[in-house]
Amino acid sequence: MAEEPDLDFKSMPKIELHAHLTGSISRKCLHEIWEVKRAAGETDLEDPLIVMPPGRHDYDLKTFFPLFSTYIYNLVNDLKSLEYSTKSVVKNFAEDGVVYVELRTTPRAMTVAGLDKSGYVEAVLRAIKAAQLEAPSLHARLILSIDRRNSIEEAHGVIALAKGFQEQGVVAIDICGDPTKGDVSLFTPAIEEAKAAGLKVTIHFAEAEASASEAELNTILSWLPDRLGHVIHVPEDIKRQIAARTGIGLELCLSCNVHAKMIVGSFEAHHFGEWWRVDGPVVVPCTDDVGVFGSPLSNEWRLIQEHFKLQRAEILGLARKGIDVIFAGDDEKSRLIGLMW
Ligand SMILES: [Zn+2]
Repeated sequence: MAEEPDLDFKSMPKIELHAHLTGSISRKCLHEIWEVKRAAGETDLEDPLIVMPPGRHDYDLKTFFPLFSTYIYNLVNDLKSLEYSTKSVVKNFAEDGVVYVELRTTPRAMTVAGLDKSGYVEAVLRAIKAAQLEAPSLHARLILSIDRRNSIEEAHGVIALAKGFQEQGVVAIDICGDPTKGDVSLFTPAIEEAKAAGLKVTIHFAEAEASASEAELNTILSWLPDRLGHVIHVPEDIKRQIAARTGIGLELCLSCNVHAKMIVGSFEAHHFGEWWRVDGPVVVPCTDDVGVFGSPLSNEWRLIQEHFKLQRAEILGLARKGIDVIFAGDDEKSRLIGLMW
């Protein structure tokens, strides 16, 4: 049998549905922001290339969250750096052949810059719009995240922002953050409010053992989420429930899970291998935090081909299936149907 022609994963039109805005900022971009701030005497932080050496991708749950709270959030802390880094993230996805991206971010007030949470979301949306003008092949939407540590009042605040910015491109809400913290059942009324407003729902699901109790997973499934992220530590009966939900999206992040040692074993052991053939759920490979884990979406697809031996037609079919679970409307779905191989 003749060898199949190699797929060029960078030119292959791709969909990215699980990408945290701040975690997607490249080290190069962080370094550029740091250089400008240092020259202006605005920061005494260390060079990001020293804090996050190029080539270091083994951040685990103990080192990952502090990297943001003690460093990146202190560097990207004003309007200028927020807009610059957001534009850079969108352009980097476009350069990697991504044609549709849903970025997600937890609204945060930037007190030094006099920016409240609403101003933050507005600035992110403005920067996304500006970046799309420079990279018209890519269309982007925004998901607002509730942090697991949030109070119910803060969660309602996130929903209020999502509702307020729906016309500007906010399509959904998410729950994310340190899986060892918080109790998601608190957020049930907030999720109900979001759904009633027509917002879609995607949730970080069984990301770590600490966030994989049957009680937590059943609570999340009772919300009837549109998509689930990670889906790692899932007991068999919950797996059966997910498999029975036709059309639910599963955002699977291979490199992140392997580098952060969130799964046992390497790529071959990733649960992508278990889910991609299952009828019903739609598996979408995603990067999670490409700035931290260093593997762009084109490389995630290459890893899938390498470790799970998918044929060309299977890869292209799987990539196109992702269109079914995006949170944009029918016009965008039609554009992607016309565009994707
Ligand atoms: Zn995530």
